[in-house]
Amino acid sequence: MLKFKTIRGVYDVLPGETEKWQYIEKTARKVFDDYGFSEIKIPVMEKSELFTRSIGETTDIVEKEMYSFPDRKGEMLSLRPEGTASVVRSYVEHKMYAQGGLTKLFYMGPMFRYERPQKGRRRQFYQIGVEALGLSGAAIDAEVVSMLFTFFGQLGLEGLVLNINSIGCRDCRPVYREVLLDYLKDKVERLCDNCLNRYEKNPLRVIDCKSGGCRELTADAPSILDHLCKVCSDDFEQVKAYFNMIGLDYNVNSRMVRGLDYYTKTAFEITSENLGAQDAVAAGGRYDLLVEEIGGPPTPAVGFALGMERLSLLMVDEDLSLKRCPDLYIAVMGQEAHNIAFRLAHELRIHGIKTEFDHENKSLKAQMRKANNTGVNFVLILGEDEVKSGRAVLRDMSVHDQEEIAWEGILFEMKSRMGG
Ligand code: ATP
Ligand code: MG
Repeated sequence: MLKFKTIRGVYDVLPGETEKWQYIEKTARKVFDDYGFSEIKIPVMEKSELFTRSIGETTDIVEKEMYSFPDRKGEMLSLRPEGTASVVRSYVEHKMYAQGGLTKLFYMGPMFRYERPQKGRRRQFYQIGVEALGLSGAAIDAEVVSMLFTFFGQLGLEGLVLNINSIGCRDCRPVYREVLLDYLKDKVERLCDNCLNRYEKNPLRVIDCKSGGCRELTADAPSILDHLCKVCSDDFEQVKAYFNMIGLDYNVNSRMVRGLDYYTKTAFEITSENLGAQDAVAAGGRYDLLVEEIGGPPTPAVGFALGMERLSLLMVDEDLSLKRCPDLYIAVMGQEAHNIAFRLAHELRIHGIKTEFDHENKSLKAQMRKANNTGVNFVLILGEDEVKSGRAVLRDMSVHDQEEIAWEGILFEMKSRMGG
């Protein structure tokens, strides 16, 4: 029996997988920077109230998924279940709105939700999120979504489906809510347990329910798109026009509503059929009411979050080739050669040359085998004779060529061979 294991739904991300994550993160940083977004680091803990206020009391997240606990002074804190609330808190706290125009931010990091763990669903999971705060307008919604697809494109991902919807605003959503409540009235008893509970509080979630029974039961439910006010429906048409302008295909899904209360107007979700039941890799939308709700001035905003685990699942072909192989391997025989390798490796690494050598007193054959396995470009062979003579063999592994050099000059030699 193992004494300590990760807790349920929480995983280590190990070397072999982390290279893929780094590649994803690096690509995200590059693409988001191309679009003018800056990184923000937000805390992992916040006052619970920030989340209950912003995400909404009746959402699944707040009702049953938050990791909340009193700290030593009795203040209720929560591990963040998502990033938007914190970004908005920070935006308001640091008065970022004062600079006017758009504030474009992104974040990366772990989120925590007490959910039933399964493929693509963990209790600690990682998100990359983007928020554009300060301006409304379909162009910004479309730009944010287009950035997400540029990012997927740079990762070489294909076959992702963009699902869009509008969930209206303060004016038209309540009207639709009533229409929906009326429609659901005589179906309530046949809804799943979850929806039974949602019906009064969050009826829009009922038509988004994934359970087969609810789907069938609400197959002919009225569509929110038929109940949008003029402003929202014009806005939705414009968003689609922008997508058409850049040739971004989309699928209008009037049943898709976001689980969080603060969304308005444009909502979107990107799905892949290669993910199984948890098929959404990213999701987001406009949230024009949240900044005000958190105590800032009325500020329209739009954003999305994408799940690292699910994205990583889609990148099956990207493997260890992403790992940078060493530039130089120093094979050593004997204590004195080891000492020299220790000093040379230090000098080389200071100058950014990725160097490896062994501490295990292995045979030359074993060391050469290991060097080969790492895909290293050059090997320096330092034995007892080389220690004495001051000269050693430097082998170029790619062309199977070798040359004798003064090992004290290895840094100079490596620099010139590596072209710098
Ligand atoms: P889901 O479709 O899984 O219920 P959600 O609507 O709860 O997603 P969001 O809160 O919008 O998800 O989060 C955005 C993205 O974060 C999701 O599309 C998904 O890729 C990822 N994500 C959400 N919850 C989890 C989780 N428990 N484990 C892994 N990834 C998750
Ligand atoms: Mg969820």
